[in-house]
Amino acid sequence: MRVVLIGPPGAGKGTQAVRIAEHFSCGDVATGDIFRSNVAEGTALGRVAQAYMDRGDLVPDEVVIAMVMDRLAERDCDAGFVLDGFPRTVAQAEALDRRLAGLETPLDAALNFEVTEEELFRRLAGRSAALHRSDDTEQTIRHRLEVFAEKTRPLIDYYRHRGLLIPVDAIGPVEEVTVRILDALAAKKAT
Ligand code: AMP
Repeated sequence: MRVVLIGPPGAGKGTQAVRIAEHFSCGDVATGDIFRSNVAEGTALGRVAQAYMDRGDLVPDEVVIAMVMDRLAERDCDAGFVLDGFPRTVAQAEALDRRLAGLETPLDAALNFEVTEEELFRRLAGRSAALHRSDDTEQTIRHRLEVFAEKTRPLIDYYRHRGLLIPVDAIGPVEEVTVRILDALAAKKAT
């Protein structure tokens, strides 16, 4: 299974990515997590990424694309992958398409996590308190939602035009959302 997850910060992509990857025994590639561990370890990549992340801006495409292409070459992605947080721009989506076309392993689906803005703020405020994420302050959250609307939302049409988009009602208990996703993926595979 090769899927990408699209949705604003706080939509539950990370939680569901782990569950989907477990279900299909494939790679779970979370770009935000990779950046955060690089920041924590003080690597060169972490130093580049940190300022963008703290402001709630996107890390430049060329940096993210190179990192994801390397990660997709790792063993656990041979069986497929769940991409959580990538692509976030059309240029990233095009780079992914080129890579997968070269390998003749096209995407199976793009899951679009749909959540109301009210619910997002409620969740992100809770996450900020629980995880002490430096990019979960109210001002940064607002900015990240604007960045999502401007840079990432166009991907919804991008994948719809390619027949890959699956809308997911991402409100409700975690387990129920997982069932919705797995059912929708099974239905898509069957078509
Ligand atoms: P996340 O944990 O997915 O919300 O990502 C946290 C931060 O990492 C984002 O706000 C961006 O600064 C950066 N980031 C993660 N994925 C990407 C991406 N695909 N493109 C650009 N920046 C990214």
